[in-house]
Amino acid sequence: MVAADPTAEVTDLLQRLIRNECVNDGTPESGHESRSADLLEDYLHAPGVTLRRFAALPGRESLVVRLEGSDPKAPSLLLMGHTDVVPVNPDGWTHDPFAATLEDGVVWGRGAVDMLNLTASMAVALRRLLASGFRPRGTLVYAAVADEEAAGVYGAEWLVAHEPDAIKTDYVITEMGGARLPFGRGGPRLPIMVAEKGGAGLLLRVKGSPAHASMPYGTDNAVVKAAEIVHRLAIFRPPARIHEVWRLFVEGAGLSWPARRALTSARVLERVLPTLPVGIARFIHGCTHTTIAPTVLHGGVKINVIADTAEIQVDIRKLPGESRDDVHRMLAHAIGDLWRECEIVREIDRAATVSPTNTPLYEVIAQVSAKLVPDARLVPYIFPAATDARFLRPEGVVGYGFGLMSERIPFDKLFSMFHGNDEHVDQESLRLSTELWVQIARGFLA
Ligand SMILES: [Zn+2]
Repeated sequence: MVAADPTAEVTDLLQRLIRNECVNDGTPESGHESRSADLLEDYLHAPGVTLRRFAALPGRESLVVRLEGSDPKAPSLLLMGHTDVVPVNPDGWTHDPFAATLEDGVVWGRGAVDMLNLTASMAVALRRLLASGFRPRGTLVYAAVADEEAAGVYGAEWLVAHEPDAIKTDYVITEMGGARLPFGRGGPRLPIMVAEKGGAGLLLRVKGSPAHASMPYGTDNAVVKAAEIVHRLAIFRPPARIHEVWRLFVEGAGLSWPARRALTSARVLERVLPTLPVGIARFIHGCTHTTIAPTVLHGGVKINVIADTAEIQVDIRKLPGESRDDVHRMLAHAIGDLWRECEIVREIDRAATVSPTNTPLYEVIAQVSAKLVPDARLVPYIFPAATDARFLRPEGVVGYGFGLMSERIPFDKLFSMFHGNDEHVDQESLRLSTELWVQIARGFLA
């Protein structure tokens, strides 16, 4: 017999996931997600479900659990969490980041909101559904994937490429939503992530000519050119573009009419941004611009040698509808005459992805949320960064980022804790999310 209230169970599972310390530092030999695949396999093992484990590399395991529906034509749903977390610097923490201490109804630890809270609550929901004898019409899939924190190469991206039948459904829900907006009149407004910007990255090389540094006059110094390129990228102002999802967000956020107008006019927006608190301005800017950020710079070999080569890494996040050529045009414009001297050594390019809001799942999420958080309504938004949903949307899967947070963790606080110090989650948020998944499964798949 399962206790009616899932709080203790979801808290315990979250604590055990945090203590597994699946720290992903970006190297293939980090992560060790097999530990949490073991834990979750053990936890979810039950008659009627298929559990499969997929290792892209030794130790980098993802767990996929399927509860087959009775009607192959009914829409299917994937609840997708990741089990890896980003590294910590314990100096900045007031609690041991991997002890998962429970104090005054709050669990402290790396991954508490990104996103072991949801990975745990999705698992607890599935186990409860199984224990109650739930037999859906549409298939329910739960995935606890590796390597989300380092581009998904050994996790979601690998699964979509190598085991599409195991993971592909009609709909997916993963992280990045459901915490209340800290503004807007009326009942709570819950952002739901329906789109993600595209990610492009460039490694540029510039060349110079080596010479003795004691006589620099007239030399061709790659480090000096690279510094100039970085500077031009930093001062470049790509124009604002108001995408449909941003418009929906502004219209749903409960703002005053002048604020709505300012945030949905590309021209007015540019004037307003510098007047806003920088944290808010940064988010608004990210949602309305393709951004270009030079992040890594290497050059030269020795103090007394004029540098003959330098390399610059540039992180680029594209709005929906922007192509690789558009980005190249933007870079050429920003860098000017020096663009001709840039050799593209490496390039990744992934388009932005967008899911519609007029779907049956969206409706169910809205209804269930309003039941669990009275008067709450959904506000769709575009995520300036990336989640694992970006691998599934191009396959025709409708993807949202959601979850429920209590009033103790509003949206701005949730964002500030991602990859930050003192990450924590309260038990009420854990309970709300667990109930959410149970009721979504019942409302959408039954
Ligand atoms: Zn995450």
